[in-house]
Amino acid sequence: MDTTAPELHTRLLAESLARLWEGIQTNCGKDSSGKAINGGAKPIECPICGDTECVIADRERNIWRPCKCQEVKRQRRILARCGLSEAFRRKTLENYEERNEHAAAMKGMACDYAANTTGGALKSIGFFGQSGIGKTHLSIALANILMQKGIAVLYMPYVEKIKELKDLNRLQSRHDVEDACYDKAIAPLKTVRVLMIDDLFKRSEDRYNQANPADVRIMFEILNDRYLKGLPVIVSSELTLTEIIRIDEAFGGRLIEMCGEYCYEAEKDQRLNYRLKDVLGG
Ligand SMILES: [Zn+2]
Repeated sequence: MDTTAPELHTRLLAESLARLWEGIQTNCGKDSSGKAINGGAKPIECPICGDTECVIADRERNIWRPCKCQEVKRQRRILARCGLSEAFRRKTLENYEERNEHAAAMKGMACDYAANTTGGALKSIGFFGQSGIGKTHLSIALANILMQKGIAVLYMPYVEKIKELKDLNRLQSRHDVEDACYDKAIAPLKTVRVLMIDDLFKRSEDRYNQANPADVRIMFEILNDRYLKGLPVIVSSELTLTEIIRIDEAFGGRLIEMCGEYCYEAEKDQRLNYRLKDVLGG
């Protein structure tokens, strides 16, 4: 749509200049040996705007409008920012295999969630229990759907992220690092519109089934903050809700309250683990 609004005009121009500058820097990029990266040139994707994402609507009055490629590129930037790889982006509800009754029921719940989720009212959703039935696939498919609706989703691979947060927290409390580095690392997890926690509490228990207190404290800090702000989570965990409550009652209670109707728990049954099917001959 054409517009004469000066703010939009200025913003488009500024964004366009920023992208041009980025492009120049990329195209002029040299590697450590001084050799030009990518042969010195990046192929232009959109022949209409030359990847500046805006086109001139009225040359005489110097009025610009967004190019039709802008929305697609904006979506791609959201996906890249949230840390989802290309393989993850290909996971959809359509290509999710309903291998057993749990998978079919989980997909039904996910489809219902996707259909009833708009930018205005966002709810939490959780998939718990039996491993290898596609909980992560469904979580990622839902994250992709939300991002296509322009809703920012941050992907939190639990095992890696909790280790990073614990390390930073320890260093910060010993004043070994710049002040507030832990606070800076945890902030996006508390403020992003939707947080997707993959494999919650994986490897958090020791051999006596005791959960690591630091893991629980950090996760409660994140979840409680989001609860108070009304910000949802998409959670997958190989633990059942009973196991999560056993780890920490307050945390489990809050999680169940947040997920509400969108909570699926699959009882543990090794025969359903498709990753083990080849090994077990199932
Ligand atoms: Zn374009």
